[in-house]
Amino acid sequence: MKKAVKGIARETLDFILEVSKSTYPNEFAGLLQTRDDIITDVLILPGTESGKVSATLQLFMMPNMSSVGSVHSHPSSVIHPSHADLRLFSKTGNHHIIVGHPYGKNNWKCFNAKGEEIRIDVLDVEIEDDEIL
Ligand code: ZN
Repeated sequence: MKKAVKGIARETLDFILEVSKSTYPNEFAGLLQTRDDIITDVLILPGTESGKVSATLQLFMMPNMSSVGSVHSHPSSVIHPSHADLRLFSKTGNHHIIVGHPYGKNNWKCFNAKGEEIRIDVLDVEIEDDEIL
């Protein structure tokens, strides 16, 4: 089932760029989750910050997490999916963000499950934390 995604919350994109910076020179990877069809959550995978195992391989090991796609960083700064990335993309949803070093505002792209670049909007939305009451 492919879910429609309206865009990504600016706060979430900023978070992704921050985590990428703090993880550098290692890779980080996570799964993207939506609220009201907007990407607002990143589930960072345990262990990906150690850099000992390829972050993309870690994503393969996640059992049936519900997500609309994935995100991972490329310390090499090449913002283009690798062969391993393409295999991953086809399994985990239809929105895959790659961020490249130096992880600035424009150092990211989004791809669909086939690895074709797609445009997603960055939205100024307020994220309500409904977990804490
Ligand atoms: Zn990659």
